[in-house]
Amino acid sequence: MQTYCPNCFDQIDADAMKCPACGCAVLFWGRAMSETERLIHSLGHPQRSERLKAVYALADLPQSESALPLADLCFGKPDDIWQAVEVIRTLAAMPAVERVEVALARLALEHPAGPVQTLAAHALDAKFGGGEA
Ligand SMILES: [Zn+2]
Repeated sequence: MQTYCPNCFDQIDADAMKCPACGCAVLFWGRAMSETERLIHSLGHPQRSERLKAVYALADLPQSESALPLADLCFGKPDDIWQAVEVIRTLAAMPAVERVEVALARLALEHPAGPVQTLAAHALDAKFGGGEA
């Protein structure tokens, strides 16, 4: 059975102790990282379902460190509108701090998909209030 290396996301045997590609000790990977750091790393997973799991989990621990990596995820996969919708929902659950504002503003102004821009602009308004351009 195949699985993914938690560090480099190469495909490895499910019972491998060490990743042949990057050499990390699979079972011990991430122990020194915070849950938020591990989830931010998982935003780079090649499987969409794993990326979305990380997006949902980040909504449950609304720490703003993940705001900009979440916005980057939307720009990395610009055709995945649903993923962007979930990212905006997660950003809306975060504290109203500057990097959350920057992440939403980037999506509102620069995302190639119109619906994503609109949704991000609404979330920005709801969270940070309109009128202060
Ligand atoms: Zn690896």
